[in-house]
Amino acid sequence: MTMECRPGCGACCIAPSITTPMPKMPQGKPAGMRCAHLMDNQLCELFGQPERPKVCSDFQAADYVCGTDSQQALELITVLETSTL
Ligand code: SF4
Ligand code: SF4
Repeated sequence: MTMECRPGCGACCIAPSITTPMPKMPQGKPAGMRCAHLMDNQLCELFGQPERPKVCSDFQAADYVCGTDSQQALELITVLETSTL
């Protein structure tokens, strides 16, 4: 089921790997590393800009990914990422 993204969560900008080059991460982002574009307020500084990876723009918050808090989301995304390798 889809849901609204929890402001201040940021888990999907930490747990997954991203292969798209980004301005501050030209090699992409390894799994489990905080994205260099995730600001202190847990919002994306590339939001709305063409440099934002498509995978980020396409990502849709959903119960099975986001859980009930950011810690649970980190765990769920890590499991999903590992199981799809
Ligand atoms: S894991 Fe889900 S709730 Fe958390 S920031 Fe990403 S989309 Fe939003
Ligand atoms: S580019 Fe933005 S949305 Fe994508 S992982 Fe980094 S901070 Fe998150």
